[in-house]
Parts: sequence; structure tokens; C-alpha cells
Amino acid sequence: MKNLKFISILSVLIFFASINKANAQTEINDSEKADTLFEKGVKIANDNFTGTAFLKMLVTNDDENPITIGNVTFEPGARTKWHLHPGGQILLVTDGVGYYQEKGQSKKILHKGDVIKCPPNIEHWHGASVDSHFSHLAIGNSDKEAVVWLLPVTDEEYRK
Ligand code: MN
Repeated sequence: MKNLKFISILSVLIFFASINKANAQTEINDSEKADTLFEKGVKIANDNFTGTAFLKMLVTNDDENPITIGNVTFEPGARTKWHLHPGGQILLVTDGVGYYQEKGQSKKILHKGDVIKCPPNIEHWHGASVDSHFSHLAIGNSDKEAVVWLLPVTDEEYRK
């Protein structure tokens, strides 16, 4: 009888241990499959982002093309500060699951293939979802100032 009780407790412990292991495995797989399509670039070191994000500038502007194109990759939970673009911005989602929110609007959930046209001077933020990485190309108008950085996106705003 005593042995039976011990075996029951042990099975429960093994069961929970296996759940934890499965969760850990999911997270590892998620970051491994972060297919950024274009070069991932280097970790962003400034404080305009919360969490870990990477940037690779793919196209810089010249006389023929007054645009810039950057590849941005966010780890889960990472996001920009609130900001605006005087010349507007276009986001092309290439991988993962992310968020985009304009001030006063509800948060949009973005997936691979989604396109966001962010109008000039509209305050907004973008970043990864809670449990997935997120990659997008950011296309900017180089005839205007690229970005005006504002306040960080609080955890409360991020989760809303
Ligand atoms: Mn933006």
C-alpha cells in the first residue's frame, strides 16, 4: 500500500517533468526556426527597443532610390518604443508572429506575408508577440527624417 502511494506520487512528478521538458523544447524549436529570409544583422544596441532585436540594413538610399530597407528581427517580447515616421513607413512581414499598434487603435496581430502601410506622423509601435520571434522588412522614405522616437511601450500596453 505504501509502495503504491509512492509510485502514484512518482508518476505525477514524472508527468509534470515531461510537460516542462515539452515546453522547453517548444521554445528552443521556435528560436531555431527563426527564418529571417534576409541577413539577420547585428543586435541593436540603442535604447529605442525593449528586449532583443537585430537589424541589417539591406538598401541605403541613392539618387535613383530615395528609400531605405532594413531587415528587423525581434525575439519574443521585444518591441520598438512608440515612434513616428515623418515620411511614413511600410512593413513587410517575412516570418513569425508580431504586433503593430497605432495610438488610439487596437493592436493588430501580424503573420508572414502581411503588409502594413504606416502613414506619416502617426504614432505607433511594432514588435514580436509574447511567445514568437518576428521578422519584417521596414521600408522608409529617405527624403524625410527617418524616425522620431517617443516613450517605451509599457508591459501593460504591450499585453493589452
Ligand atoms: Mn515604425
